[in-house]
Amino acid sequence: MSDRKKVVLATRNQGKVKEFNRLFADYGWEGTSLAQYEGVPEVVEDGDTFEANALKKAIEISTYLQLPALGDDSGLEVDALDGRPGVYSARYAGEEATDEQNWRKLLHELEDVPMEQRTARFRCTLALVVPGEEPIIATGACEGLIAREPKGTNGFGYDPVFYIPELEKRMAELLPEEKNQISHRAKAMQKLLEVLK
Ligand code: IMP
Repeated sequence: MSDRKKVVLATRNQGKVKEFNRLFADYGWEGTSLAQYEGVPEVVEDGDTFEANALKKAIEISTYLQLPALGDDSGLEVDALDGRPGVYSARYAGEEATDEQNWRKLLHELEDVPMEQRTARFRCTLALVVPGEEPIIATGACEGLIAREPKGTNGFGYDPVFYIPELEKRMAELLPEEKNQISHRAKAMQKLLEVLK
């Protein structure tokens, strides 16, 4: 394990750390959670794009710790809402909003929108910053429709209302390993790993 290259994951979310490490395992990298380092300043996600936020997290943490860092940012883009909630997905219904408040607000806003116009996608941007090197950016998307009502209890965020036509299921009805095959985060990670290879 000790010869593995360390990369600090710009997140304190243990679920994400596990997901990233499963994907990293074959490539000689080992992700460590930000929670393991003391005094790392909180990065304010105030960018207008997923890329700006992912890069900002990775650059600030890599500069502070002088270690490689991986930043990620993700969200939901709904066509009938001109791409909203986008980078504001986590706080769509307010700064302290719960996942359920966020998707309920979304369903309310789309009340009069017919099914064929409820197209949407999850997007994820990853930024890998190694001190002294050019940043590597990778993106992934997962297409679907916003359902009229929620279903399923897995996942998080907008998963209960995100319907995937090919699977005829909401994202929240998928097992974690099924979601990891098709998710925006997994796709971005695959692309990043191809560049690293
Ligand atoms: P962040 O990348 O942790 O900042 O996530 C931004 C927000 O986008 C989350 O709080 C969710 O509301 C939404 N989101 C991102 N990825 C997913 C996902 O895989 N499923 C459902 N919602 C997601």
